[in-house]
Amino acid sequence: MDELRFDGRVAVISGAGRGLGRAYALLLANRGAKVVVNDNGSAILGEGEDEGPAQQVVREIEAAGGEALASVDSVATCEGASAIVQSALDAFGRVDILIHNAGNVRYGALDEIAVEDFHSVLDVHLMGAFYLVRAAFPHMKAQNYGRVVLTSSIGGFYGNQACVNYAVSKSGMIGLSNVIALEGEEHGIRSNLILPGAMTRMADGLDTSQYPPLGPELVAPMVGWLAHEDCALSGEALVAIGGRMAKIDMLETHGVFQPHWTIEQVAARMEEIADPATYADLGLHGYRAHLGQSFEMARNGRL
Ligand code: NAD
Repeated sequence: MDELRFDGRVAVISGAGRGLGRAYALLLANRGAKVVVNDNGSAILGEGEDEGPAQQVVREIEAAGGEALASVDSVATCEGASAIVQSALDAFGRVDILIHNAGNVRYGALDEIAVEDFHSVLDVHLMGAFYLVRAAFPHMKAQNYGRVVLTSSIGGFYGNQACVNYAVSKSGMIGLSNVIALEGEEHGIRSNLILPGAMTRMADGLDTSQYPPLGPELVAPMVGWLAHEDCALSGEALVAIGGRMAKIDMLETHGVFQPHWTIEQVAARMEEIADPATYADLGLHGYRAHLGQSFEMARNGRL
């Protein structure tokens, strides 16, 4: 296969001053993309600002012969996210690729977490994603082209203890990505989720001595593919961790039809209702397939 390149493409990558985002920025720039390296340089909990990380990555890209621009606005406000996208338009004239990767973490059990900590994580991850997409989408539509990669997490799909804020943000990414995929379809815009795993500062304090190599550079090729014009996937979720690449699907059983139900009948037929042998992936247009399936059963009166 010929080398997959990004010449002429402009990528906005949030949280690209460190960790995973930095690896994405270096890879895309190395393959010819012009990159807006966005990072407000905040600490792991989300507080403070530091221009250093974004500028350092820009220097690395330039030293390797690439083109990049540092942006230190926060994704957590509508104005900040708009300024990030605008900086790509001002410097490079377009925005083809949006990778929302910026993130903070704040822990707390369900009955203890401070409301402020809940909002803080939602603001960076989920609201940040929405603000960035809102700013970039009209430009992608106008040019009939766009690739969006939003960062979800195993915690968003399966849950995680003591970080409901993170789980909610990362599962919210599923709905957002699917809407981008649906609304962007006719405009050449594709949107997918990355569920990464890598040793970054997010692992600070953990005993990682027994872990295999988990570098961010093991995640970047999957994100690179999702960001590439040859990739036609949309509305999908891909996992990349420690060299393992996988795909997560949303599945629905075939279902059971009765014209009327009682609680007891639901209880009695639960095994059939949830029969894993009948699972199907209804895909991006699942809601249509889902409605069609329900209507077909209702019409046919199938028991
Ligand atoms: P990281 O802390 O190394 O990098 C995150 C970057 O985001 C930091 O440089 C930080 O300054 C920046 N940032 C934070 N708030 C910002 C804001 N408001 N505006 C702009 N930039 C901001 O973390 P990482 O491990 O590289 O994580 C990257 C993404 O991957 C996050 O969304 C994280 O939730 C997700 N993720 C990571 C893992 C993992 O194993 N590392 C697992 C699942 C998901």
